[in-house]
Amino acid sequence: MTQDADALIVGGGLNGPAAALALAQAGLRVALIDAAEPDERMRPDFDGRAYNLGLASRRFLQVAGVWEAIAPHVQPVAQVVLEDARPGDRAAAALAHFDHDEIDEGPAAQIVEDRVLRPALLQAAMAHPLIALHAPATVLATRRDDVGAEAELSTGEVLRAPVLIACDGRDSRLARAAGILRTGWGYDQTGLVSAVEHERDHGGVARQRFLPGGPFAVLPLPGGRRSSLVWTERTAEAQRIHALPDAEYRAEVEARMGGALGAVTLAGRRWMYPLKLSVAQAWVAPRLALVGDAAHAVHPIAGQGLNLGLRDAAALAEVLAEAKRRGEDIGVLTVLERYQRWRRFDGVSLALGMDAVNRLFSNDDPGLRLIRDAGVRLATALRPARRAFMREAAGVSGDLPRMLRGEAI
Ligand SMILES: Cc1cc2nc3c(=O)[nH]c(=O)nc-3n(C[C@H](O)[C@H](O)[C@H](O)COP(=O)(O)OP(=O)(O)OC[C@H]3O[C@@H](n4cnc5c(N)ncnc54)[C@H](O)[C@@H]3O)c2cc1C
Repeated sequence: MTQDADALIVGGGLNGPAAALALAQAGLRVALIDAAEPDERMRPDFDGRAYNLGLASRRFLQVAGVWEAIAPHVQPVAQVVLEDARPGDRAAAALAHFDHDEIDEGPAAQIVEDRVLRPALLQAAMAHPLIALHAPATVLATRRDDVGAEAELSTGEVLRAPVLIACDGRDSRLARAAGILRTGWGYDQTGLVSAVEHERDHGGVARQRFLPGGPFAVLPLPGGRRSSLVWTERTAEAQRIHALPDAEYRAEVEARMGGALGAVTLAGRRWMYPLKLSVAQAWVAPRLALVGDAAHAVHPIAGQGLNLGLRDAAALAEVLAEAKRRGEDIGVLTVLERYQRWRRFDGVSLALGMDAVNRLFSNDDPGLRLIRDAGVRLATALRPARRAFMREAAGVSGDLPRMLRGEAI
């Protein structure tokens, strides 16, 4: 069978182009397929999120050749402050304080807006000689057998390769078609996202305020007086707030911000993201590997979903490149299981861990608040413990794929 590429990647969100760049960096030929028009996805108002990206993700983007384009638009995080608060509180009980000087390798995290990251990933993928972009094109059906895999596109094309990589998001159709079951549940929580301008400089401080409806994150953006809010509420309350006129929405924001940044004004559109946990029970099948939200959609409480996806992409690229160099068929289950063994435990434990933290902090039970707050203060009182937390959040602990160590594959 003639092959169009070494791998067919289905999904051109963030993880699809990232996985394509990782594979191409390792010398593999990739066909990247996405349902949406590239120009549409590169519009600045395509998605309102800003991402907390750990140090390891920054290294991934450096090796993938994307960092240079986004570096001028990135805000390094100088400090992270965790607070326990209720709407209307001006001051709040500080639970923990992390200073990024405490780890040696540089800022543990940086914030980058989707409108910067998404076009940069897509443009780098489009410019790479080993990546062919097929978009807009929907994958209507896939077939996998002993010889290879194929994807039938809405354009009428049929593409073939030894392996399919599903980057098609948390409701992955490719995983479902392969009979892979998912574990998960809705949170009855929705993420409200918007950018705000504020009176006082944020000084690079990222603030996570634990409110009864869910976490309220204030992520610093470049320039000092803009921040991105990722704000979780029970879904009915989120819908009510989202429907408010700007002035009332702003008042809801100000009630939750605390006084640290002074008066705030809304800057741009407001967005809603329904949240759910969804973890695939298997991450591979013969000639199929799942990457990013297709494998694990996690609560955004610690801003780790994309960081996990980039780790998957780097690990899978490394496994496939090594198998190819050894002359193995890169789509067989024994090869793909090396990726699953490497990544699944980390992905599932983080997904379940974030789920537990969200449950613990999204409530107003006075007894529980007392115990959990004391627990966080105790766990983060000593410098070595804070360093360990920060290394984990930066993504630089554990068995790292080469790209996350800053090395080419
Ligand atoms: C409110 C919120 C805040 C977040 N903040 C952070 C953060 O601070 N840090 C962080 O690391 N993560 C964060 N995340 C998580 C992060 O946004 C996601 O993990 C990431 O965007 C998932 O990307 P993906 O490419 O895996 O999936 P998706 O973005 O869902 O992309 C899937 C793509 O597949 C395409 N597709 C699907 N089916 C087909 C088909 N049949 N044919 C062709 N194309 C198809 C779709 O068009 C789409 O482009 C946050 C998430 C939320 C909701």
